[in-house]
Amino acid sequence: MDKQQLLDKRLQSAFELSAGSAEVQGYKIGKIDVKHKVIAGAKVGYAGGSNKGSDVVTGYIHIDSRFLEYCENGHLDELINTMKHELAHLIAETFNKKKKTGVWHGQAWKDVFTSLGGDGTRYYTGTFVKPENVGKTFKTKAELYQITPTEPASNWERGTYRQWLERGYHVIKGQKGQLQVWEFSANEYETDTDGKTSKWGRASAVYFTPDQVEPNKPKDQ
Ligand SMILES: [Zn+2]
Repeated sequence: MDKQQLLDKRLQSAFELSAGSAEVQGYKIGKIDVKHKVIAGAKVGYAGGSNKGSDVVTGYIHIDSRFLEYCENGHLDELINTMKHELAHLIAETFNKKKKTGVWHGQAWKDVFTSLGGDGTRYYTGTFVKPENVGKTFKTKAELYQITPTEPASNWERGTYRQWLERGYHVIKGQKGQLQVWEFSANEYETDTDGKTSKWGRASAVYFTPDQVEPNKPKDQ
């Protein structure tokens, strides 16, 4: 068996084990497309395509290929936990009783996840880092305040608190931002290059306009 076949087999085994745990809990597991691929952003896996209101759990689960390889080298427990995390999403969304919104990482999802023997964590807590993210660190607030503008603030329509700092500006004290909220459902949120944290639920950000910011004045200057 070559390496690819071994990884495919390992992925399938992790799924079957997780599906077995789900069946023990009384869930009917139907056709679920499980594959591995290079996933952009921070996620090691994601799930989608569930059929809300059905009594059979279907959909797809994608796992990052590099993560799968890492798991093969002594971290199979992490692969199984991730698989259960994703399968729990499909189960929770299939039996979601909320009318409009997804369960996302809510209590119903968490209950399913732990009932399958998963650790209940929302974010991956292991040691794997995607090659493209190695060495990437986020600047601290103090470091961000040292950035000076290279373009006038009016070149942007708006920005979050952090985006303005990265542009060399800071939000003037006391300014109120505009809250924007996006609601997602599983099917309209299937892109894997969005870098967002989940397939379901909502995302929000507070935006400030150019007239609400002023240039950073780095100290030590
Ligand atoms: Zn999740």
